[in-house]
Amino acid sequence: MHKFPDFLQRIIDYLFPPLCIVCDKPRPWGEKWLCSGCEAALIENNRYRDPCPRCAANKALGPCECRPGIDFPFDRAYSLFDFEDPVRSVLHHVKYAGKKHLAFDLALRFAPLAQQEFFEGIDGVVAVPLHVSRRRKRGYNQADYLARGLAEERRLPLFEGVLTRVRKTATQTTLNRPARRKNMKGAFAVPSGASERIRGASLLLIDDVMTTGSTTGEAAKALLHAGAASVRVLSFARD
Ligand SMILES: [Zn+2]
Ligand SMILES: [Zn+2]
Repeated sequence: MHKFPDFLQRIIDYLFPPLCIVCDKPRPWGEKWLCSGCEAALIENNRYRDPCPRCAANKALGPCECRPGIDFPFDRAYSLFDFEDPVRSVLHHVKYAGKKHLAFDLALRFAPLAQQEFFEGIDGVVAVPLHVSRRRKRGYNQADYLARGLAEERRLPLFEGVLTRVRKTATQTTLNRPARRKNMKGAFAVPSGASERIRGASLLLIDDVMTTGSTTGEAAKALLHAGAASVRVLSFARD
């Protein structure tokens, strides 16, 4: 988009106020994407969470499904938000309205909601990849942009090209936990040549929405199999 000098942009914004992507209300000049009310609602969503350190579910909504026998390949998981409005609406824009820079800005803006302690010892950030056919269709991988924003905010190295989706998987939305796990089996791989980069590293895996942990779990397995020392998961929203 063409960039006008600041004073001109102010006049344009006065005549045609930019709208909040969630509620369509005009947002003040200088505020990006969201009005202050919707931004406050996101912060409120985070505050209301009582996250399980294993599966990132919000225990304020009820007990999580962590039981003996349900284990995850990753050490810990954290989600910035619960997948409900306005978070759902924001992610819809990221995923289906082509707003990849929104994903970057969101990670930059909201990464500080996670405690610094969660990032301690992390050597690098890895995004959960999309299958190449889906990425081509969408034009980008939203998790890549979340990972970039997060890596920048936390000053962590971004590891690109160390994980690929080798199998196209069916949509998970109608599947239960065992079916999801089966559906994702062997979906990810570390390309030959990339394992050198992650050997012995503690990695932070980034996804947009985490549901049962089957996708992130399978991605973590591939990284660990290739020699990563440990994997932690950070998702933007927990469903
Ligand atoms: Zn709004
Ligand atoms: Zn749990």
